[in-house]
Amino acid sequence: MTSGQIHIVGAGLAGLAAALALAAEGFGRRLCLHEASNHAGGRCRSFEDAALGCSIDNGNHLILGANPAVFAYLDALGGRAALATPPETIFPFVDLASGEHWLLRPNRGRVPWWIAAPARRVPGSHAADYLRALGLLAAGPRDSVADRLDPSSVLYRRLWEPLTVAVLNASPKEASARLMGRVLREVFGGGAAGSRPYIAAAGLSTALVDPALAALARSGAEIRCGSRLRALERAGRAVTALAFSGDRIELAAGDQVILAVPPTVAAKLLPGLAVPVGSRAILNLHFRLDRPLRHDPAAAAEIIGLVGATAQWLFLREALASVTISAADALLDRSDEDLAAAIWQEIAAALRLLGVATPATPPPARIVKERRATFLQSPANLSLRPAATALGGNLLLAGDWTDTGLPATIEGAIRSGNAAAAAARRAIATVA
Ligand SMILES: Cc1cc2nc3c(=O)[nH]c(=O)nc-3n(C[C@H](O)[C@H](O)[C@H](O)COP(=O)(O)OP(=O)(O)OC[C@H]3O[C@@H](n4cnc5c(N)ncnc54)[C@H](O)[C@@H]3O)c2cc1C
Repeated sequence: MTSGQIHIVGAGLAGLAAALALAAEGFGRRLCLHEASNHAGGRCRSFEDAALGCSIDNGNHLILGANPAVFAYLDALGGRAALATPPETIFPFVDLASGEHWLLRPNRGRVPWWIAAPARRVPGSHAADYLRALGLLAAGPRDSVADRLDPSSVLYRRLWEPLTVAVLNASPKEASARLMGRVLREVFGGGAAGSRPYIAAAGLSTALVDPALAALARSGAEIRCGSRLRALERAGRAVTALAFSGDRIELAAGDQVILAVPPTVAAKLLPGLAVPVGSRAILNLHFRLDRPLRHDPAAAAEIIGLVGATAQWLFLREALASVTISAADALLDRSDEDLAAAIWQEIAAALRLLGVATPATPPPARIVKERRATFLQSPANLSLRPAATALGGNLLLAGDWTDTGLPATIEGAIRSGNAAAAAARRAIATVA
């Protein structure tokens, strides 16, 4: 192989973003993307489900208006149209404990005047409750979200707790207040545009994975699925060879490696590398309907927040009703039948409160349990997130768990891939 090859290990969104960024700079023919499984996309992908007879996503993924790297990634692929968004930034919420429901409607512009309008506020909350959340912006490195808010307030139960669990995949007692502060600044600080929800209408792979693979193939990049990296051979800080399940690739001076694998895999491949410890699960329950259910009949897709229930977010798109439950480790051992029956009852109750009729019998369901959906986004783990260039030599790191300053999200994964690609480019320019 010629010098200046770039090996990217892991074809999740971090690896795909790194590869696309390098291909866009003309490095396509020097790229080799190695993926252990037989598909790209990692924790963000679709698959055909034989039982439901349709394609489903491993989990509902919400993209927000304030995710610039995701939109730039999609624009480079010409695929922004693959996302659906409601006509306005409106989140319907239902509290199953009290039977109340409301619409959360942030206003346009950066000044959040909506919190001064009682009709736009969460029922039972006061304007001062929202201002208290500014404490998240001044959070210290050891603070949890619960440390900086008032856990006894109505707003905590009806807004901050569900948002924290959704965004950081951890309860407010264990989630980092610093990370939530960053989200508050970037997402909610951007008003209605920043918090506008987008979902991949025809599935995650159609929107984010398949077009990336096609663009990489056009650029001349090599894509090797079923190629699991078993060991990195190193001389000092330099990687000299990559040992895969089936073969071994020797590297030439000037070659670069971007390791875009999950933290547990990186720690095994690189003994001594400190990585965030622990993870949290996300459960998704997909119900196949015989007709689409909608609260707003004009919407192509809808997202409804549930409070006072085990179900947390209900996504309605096409003839699927899908429920996301984050920080769901306590539910992992419950049987699929039991979970599907309990969650369908909650969905039916929530939709009834919104005036939407649901089928009398529970529809067929498929449950996807992602045990290690994200790393545990706790204060202690923030200091264990390495930078892309932490290891020096010709080895770079990428992944949603690296030090992006952002939660473990698609946005973070793509930004980490872009950062690793930029560092690889600089290193190649230096050698040349
Ligand atoms: C159920 C669920 C719901 C989510 N919801 C949202 C959401 O609403 N919004 C949002 O922004 N984010 C969400 N996320 C997070 C988002 O999916 C991740 O942040 C993102 O996909 C991580 O991408 P990554 O490339 O960093 O890691 P991964 O996707 O984990 O990619 C790593 C890749 O490396 C491969 N690999 C592992 N070991 C090896 C090896 N030894 N050799 C070669 N390859 C290897 C893996 O197979 C995988 O393809 C959710 C995640 C889950 C699981």
